[in-house]
Parts: sequence; structure tokens; C-alpha cells
Amino acid sequence: MKCNESKPINDHLLRSWIRCRRKAWLEIYGDKQKKLWTAHSTLQLNHQIDCFHNLAQKSYGIGIQACEEGKNIVYGIRLKFPLIKHRIIKGNLPILKKTSGDSIWGNFSYQPVLARQGKKITREHRLILSMTGLLINNLQKYQSQKGLILHKENDIIKVEKIRLTNKMNTELIKSLLNLERDIESKDPPPITSNRKKCTICSWRKYCDSVSIQEGYLSEVSGIGAKRELLLNKIGINNIEDLAKIKHYKLKAKLDKFGTQHGDISKQLISQAQSQSNNKAIKLNPEEELKNLKQAKGFLIYDIESDPDIKHDFLHGFIRIPNNLNNEINFKKIKYSPLLNLEKNTENSLWERIKRKLNRHKDLPILHYGETEPISLLKLGLRQGASTHEIVAIKKRFIDIHLLIRENWRLPVRNYGLKSIAEFIGFEWEQSNIDGARALLWWRQWKKSRRLNNVYSKNLNSIFKYNRDDCIATLMIAKWLIDQE
Ligand code: SF4
Repeated sequence: MKCNESKPINDHLLRSWIRCRRKAWLEIYGDKQKKLWTAHSTLQLNHQIDCFHNLAQKSYGIGIQACEEGKNIVYGIRLKFPLIKHRIIKGNLPILKKTSGDSIWGNFSYQPVLARQGKKITREHRLILSMTGLLINNLQKYQSQKGLILHKENDIIKVEKIRLTNKMNTELIKSLLNLERDIESKDPPPITSNRKKCTICSWRKYCDSVSIQEGYLSEVSGIGAKRELLLNKIGINNIEDLAKIKHYKLKAKLDKFGTQHGDISKQLISQAQSQSNNKAIKLNPEEELKNLKQAKGFLIYDIESDPDIKHDFLHGFIRIPNNLNNEINFKKIKYSPLLNLEKNTENSLWERIKRKLNRHKDLPILHYGETEPISLLKLGLRQGASTHEIVAIKKRFIDIHLLIRENWRLPVRNYGLKSIAEFIGFEWEQSNIDGARALLWWRQWKKSRRLNNVYSKNLNSIFKYNRDDCIATLMIAKWLIDQE
């Protein structure tokens, strides 16, 4: 692939680079056919629209003319300026807010505004704010002192004022120079060691295949950026090296960096062996899955949430009336989606959940991971459930994720529901779907409902997705039993 030295850098590219150096390079030179659609950018855009809508004022306008006229809010300004030598930096400034100052247009100036998702202000927010600040400063010939960052907290828009400091500007210029160096290289930067970032990246399928092919250590479940560095320091550079080393040798070497590293050496080696040989390894042959085997039926439980407002909007259950020793009759599976439209309608939701749990008192509740029991028990406590009720529900939970982790090393990069279900051959009815997509559907459906224009298709798609999550959990439980 050829590098393109004259390619301007824009705010979109800078965002990509801050998330992962490789992503910025792929955005320019990568094969777009290998890029996946993800719901994250749409969620981000919708969130931005909601936040900016909150700033809306009567006096607003579009473009530089609106600045000349001194409108309170200005939308849609695109600016470019060589913030670094020989390189045009383009900025798309979706919104500016008027403030005091002394610009070329009069005794006022404009400050940059951005919307953030997530719990806290990150380096990405600071650098993008600094970049838009420098671009607007150059236009208005006046230095903005502060930028605004908007975010939602329990459906309320909060505004934070951030001082635009020289330190931030210096960090921005340094980052732009490093970004420039990366995109001038004919080879892409390496795959990030922090593979958690990859889960929401549109290049993940492509990078996964490269990573597997080249035996990257970050492919191994349990190895993050720091541990990869430690392993490199002791001469282990790929999965093969790790799969071959003797346990006592690795432990002795890793113990020097702290016993917490040495203690998981066995786990790391068996995980690498499983992945490099593409083979499932049973860990506890004597361990029995009594609870799973003896049950006369099951409830399987999965929640869908809107994390920004901490709202569990869907509590999905499936019930099967028989054990898992024989083939599952899918016709007998009953799905019950219990919707919780608003956060403040928890009371009736809890009553409905309680009725369901009581109706099938003898059935264990299967779930995948910690989220479901934590959320359900907290809901019960908020609704005044007695200690006796809470303890009784707690006893019924069986965490399939925990059972998989305790009993097996599998040739997968992570032990999330999707990876494990894929490993055992389960497919979701709707393709390329994940929690982010379900969240997007939910937000779109809620909005359309408010406008009295119900998108029932979206809601049905969420139900299908949630039902499949439950069935995936069930199929993994069955796989566990079948391997006994
Ligand atoms: S998939 Fe991961 S490594 Fe690849 S570009 Fe995205 S974040 Fe970077």
C-alpha cells in the first residue's frame, strides 16, 4: 500500500488515532470492504444531537456569516489551517457558543463545544476540544479561554467548562505530529495490546484475522497491554512461545514482576495451548455439574440496558420444561420479554418478575455473567424485597460464564457470550448484531413512540436479539453437560 503524504488530517482521523494508532492508518489505506458497520458511531451521533439540542437558542445561525452577525449559537462550521508544518488540519465544528471576548466580529467570541458519552472526560475529549479551539482562535483572532463538554446524566444534560490550556495545545501538536508520522508510514502500526478497544471497532474482523495469523500475544485471553510487555521482556513474543514454555520456568520469570503475574502462569500457558492447537481443554475432570444435570427445567434470563441512564429496559426470560440431557425441543421454548419502559415504573416490573419467578419456583435461573443477578437483586432490594426472598432468588442463579471459565480452556480470544456461543456453533438469527445495535433500536423506538409513530419492527428485533442471547446461554449450558 502507498502512503499519501498530502492527505489532510481531520478531527475524525484524530479521534480514530487517539483510540488506536492502527485505526487511523486503516481509515486511509485499509480495504473498506473489510470494514464492518457498527452501531457505535450512530449512537454517538444521536447522543450529540440530543445534547446540542439542549443548547438550542432563538438566536442561531449557520456558518461564518452567523458568527459575523453575532448569533448566540452557530452550527456547521468547517475550518482548515496548517496547525503543523506543511499539513492542513481540517475541523468540522458542529456547534459553537457565543461568549465574552474581543474577536474580529466585535466584543464577543466563540467557544468550542462537544458532546461526550461515557463516564468521564478522556484524552480524546481534551485533544478534540483543543483542536477545535485552536481552529476557531485562528478564525476569530481571539483566544478562547474555555470549551464546553456536554453529557447526559439520568436524562439531564450537564455542561462542564474546560479550560483550554497551553499544556493541552502542546499535547495536541505532539499528537498531530505522531499521527502524521504514522500515516506517512507504508506499514500499519501494530494491533493494539488493549484488545478491549477492538470490540467496538469497525476493523475488528480484519485485525482479528491478522492477529490470529501472526500469533499476537494479545490474542490470548488474560493478556492485556501490561502483561504482553512483561512477556516480551522475558523473551516470549507470540502464542507459540507461550504454549511451549514449561510452567515452572514461566512462573519463576513472572514472579520477579510480582506474584500476581506468576500465579496465573499455568492459566496463560493452557490458554495459549488451547488457542494455538485450536483445541478445547478440560480443566476439572472430577468436577460435576450436578445442578445443571438434575434440574427438571430452567428459566434463562438476560437483560438489555441503556448504560448512559442506568436503565435496564428489558428483562427477558425463556423457559424450558425439561432437562438438558436430551435434544432441546425449540418449539417448547417460551420467551417472555418484560419491558420496563421508564425507570420510574420499576414497581410493576418487579411484581411481574416476582410472579414469573414464583410460578416456576423449582427452576434454576441460568444467566451469563454477573450483570443479571446483580441487577435483579438490586431491583428487588429497591422494591422492598425481604432478606428471605433475596436469599431464595440468589440460590437459584447458575452462572454459565463461571462454569465455562472454571471447567474449560477454549480456543477463543475472550469468554464473552458471543465468542463462546460462536465456538459451540450457535448463530444469532439476525446477523452483525450486538448490544450496541439493540441499544440503538431501543432509543429509536422510544423516540418514535414519543412522536406517536411506533416502530414495532425495532422492538421485535430487540426481542429476537434478547431471546437469542437467552438461547445462546442455554446452548452453552447444554454443551457443558454434553462434554461430561
Ligand atoms: S480492531 Fe483493534 S487493533 Fe484493529 S484498528 Fe480497531 S482498535 Fe485498532
